[in-house]
Amino acid sequence: MKTQVGIIGAGPSGLLLSQILHLHGIRSVVLERRSRDYVLSRIRAGVLEQGFTDMLRAAQVGARMDREGQIHEGFDIAFGGKRHRIDLAALTGGKTVMVYGQTEVQRDLFAARDAMGGTIITEAEDVTPHDVAGAAPYLTYRKDGSEGRIDCEFVAGCDGFHGVSRKAIPESVLKNFERVYPFGWLGILSETAPVSDELIYMNHERGFALASLRSANLSRYYIQSAAEEDLAQWPDERFWEEFRRRLPAEAAAKLVTGPSVEKSVAPLRSFVCEPMRYGRLFLAGDAAHIVPPTGAKGLNLAASDIHFLSRGLIDYFRKGDESGLQRYSEKALARIWKAERFSWWMTHLLHVFPENAGFGERIQRAELEYLVSSRAALTSLAENYVGLPFE
Ligand SMILES: Cc1cc2nc3c(=O)[nH]c(=O)nc-3n(C[C@H](O)[C@H](O)[C@H](O)COP(=O)(O)OP(=O)(O)OC[C@H]3O[C@@H](n4cnc5c(N)ncnc54)[C@H](O)[C@@H]3O)c2cc1C
Repeated sequence: MKTQVGIIGAGPSGLLLSQILHLHGIRSVVLERRSRDYVLSRIRAGVLEQGFTDMLRAAQVGARMDREGQIHEGFDIAFGGKRHRIDLAALTGGKTVMVYGQTEVQRDLFAARDAMGGTIITEAEDVTPHDVAGAAPYLTYRKDGSEGRIDCEFVAGCDGFHGVSRKAIPESVLKNFERVYPFGWLGILSETAPVSDELIYMNHERGFALASLRSANLSRYYIQSAAEEDLAQWPDERFWEEFRRRLPAEAAAKLVTGPSVEKSVAPLRSFVCEPMRYGRLFLAGDAAHIVPPTGAKGLNLAASDIHFLSRGLIDYFRKGDESGLQRYSEKALARIWKAERFSWWMTHLLHVFPENAGFGERIQRAELEYLVSSRAALTSLAENYVGLPFE
């Protein structure tokens, strides 16, 4: 099979790239290791920056999000038992975020690719990029016991942190930057009314907690936990009890509990690899970087990568202009590092760090108190949370 862009991975990065390219008359094929059902069962991000929602609308996949998503103009930070509202809209000249689950974004992207005749090959095993440093790269894979080959002009590595694309870049070229945090997030999804209309980020002596939501009857709650918790040790009752203890009292009184419909532990990590281009291979999204979820940036960064990459590819195929592709890595990384900094800062601001006892705890409390008393500090938080500009 021949195409213009071979895309590895049908997560949000890969499908959004394929959709945007299609709308500009550029052909692509997406190879995905998992089944579609598996991809659609993953519960992940849920807070979308305005830049991302604008991209989804421009890519003709924003209609259901605009009907069913919730616009949030603020969120709360709680510490010392008190809630402090961060008025995003007032602090940023009217900017907001959209609460709409990543799973729903995936569903909308699959539906759009199907409606436009896009080629997505799921359950593709042993996907391997070849000759990406040369002029004629290709991908091989196995499906239902048969070998497949896709010849393409460019390869987009959109295959997440554990994918094969990053490994196709020689170690002598690639530089990795990493920080692993000494804890994780234990999360549940529950078909209960959220404890608050807006998110509450909690700094608590027992550990961080987050009250998030997906809709009026779907709550997403997290507590700081060990990086590798045994879920068998966390029956729902134990989760609810621990979560309730970390909520401010007036919110705890309103908490509605119920059976979890999903429960998982995510380790927290900051990671960036440089460069994001090697020959005709371009990395995008989690394939190139990871942030701890505290700043709600992972999915949004995947989107900004696709913004830069799709523009570079469109300019190349439409006008023969290679400058966007040449500057892709540099432009994407400039924004990525700012989001890495913000996610790292939010993580330090809100979590209990075992090594922080004493002095570190007092500094953290002073920083929280300064934050909620200073319009300058709040503005900085708000402008990062709603998303820094793409350009
Ligand atoms: C548990 C969890 C919770 C998260 N919560 C948040 C959150 O609250 N807020 C936030 O902003 N972000 C969150 N994130 C991060 C966010 O989900 C990711 O940043 C986002 O999914 C990145 O999209 P992607 O398309 O780049 O990668 P992915 O979504 O990982 O997609 C990569 C795709 O490539 C496929 N693939 C992998 N290897 C291969 C291969 N060898 N061959 C073919 N296909 C392959 C995978 O199956 C997958 O479908 C969370 C992530 C996780 C894991």
